Amino acid sequence: MSAVRIDGSGVAADVRASVARAVAGLPGKPGLAVVLVGEDAASEVYVRNKVKATAEAGMTSHHHRLPAHASQSDVETLIATLNADPEVDGILLQLPLPAGLNADAAIERIDPDKDVDGLTEVSAGRLSLGKPGLRPCTPVGSVILAQRALGANLSGKHAVIIGRSILVGKPAALLFLAENCTVTIAHSRSADLPAICRTADILVPAVGKPEMVRGDWVKPGAALIDVGINRVPAPDKGEGKTRLVGDAHFESCAEVAGFITPVPGGVGPMTIACLLRNTVLAACARRGWPVPAGL
Ligand code: NAP
Repeated sequence: MSAVRIDGSGVAADVRASVARAVAGLPGKPGLAVVLVGEDAASEVYVRNKVKATAEAGMTSHHHRLPAHASQSDVETLIATLNADPEVDGILLQLPLPAGLNADAAIERIDPDKDVDGLTEVSAGRLSLGKPGLRPCTPVGSVILAQRALGANLSGKHAVIIGRSILVGKPAALLFLAENCTVTIAHSRSADLPAICRTADILVPAVGKPEMVRGDWVKPGAALIDVGINRVPAPDKGEGKTRLVGDAHFESCAEVAGFITPVPGGVGPMTIACLLRNTVLAACARRGWPVPAGL
């Protein structure tokens, strides 16, 4: 392996520490409301982690549960209550919602100034227009990791994003563009994807295809920021065991790249860290507090 391994867990810990320092210097405590509908086991774990991380950063956590049989109106009424609550700076609706509920419609009810996931149409519009607003967490984490690898100034770098989802690919492309990168968005219909990838100074696969990107797709010295998280069988660990891998084949890509994020321990931990950061930014914007330096 010749690439430098980018320690996403370490960078996320730095971001969380800077959030905690920022919170300690604020005139009040930012509050994050997390809404969990139903009993999805994975969502329970995610919500528990978010609630714990919020408290560790010195912020107030408001945890709201609705039963799996909650109606669309129940969910939207709760969101309206949280929109009106002056102690709540950020609202996170844990996805997926139980079958029968319309997640897009519920998300649209979130006050864009409290939209710490950056998923509302207004947040997407603000990002697209280059106006101040809350940005989606995983894409922000990807940019921060690229900056840790290549330096804060990414101007002129060619960023190739593989994937054009609303959650990751599109906002990541716009965020790298805002850093003055030249941006290419590739997707399932792109012709000769390996050749496109070989032109990237910053390669960001966000696809959901285990180990799709191979070493000979990577430009020597590039920064490879692997957003993909895929669970695959791992018979070497025992019968029925699994492991997580990214969208890039780590071993072959690490031979060529200059920098590479592992999976797990790369982009993943950045998501919660950036959620906490967004909560502080939302609190400052809403309450008229100056944004703390270093955030
Ligand atoms: P998604 O909504 O399924 O989007 C996948 C994108 O990949 C689509 O734009 C699709 O293109 C493109 N694609 C599919 N097959 C392709 C191929 N063979 N070649 C090139 N492009 C291809 O997924 P997502 O929500 O963006 O998530 C992507 C990955 O990131 C997943 O592994 C997910 O688990 C992971 N993720 C990680 C985090 C984190 O915290 N680290 C957060 C969110 C997601 P089309 O548009 O043409 O179909």
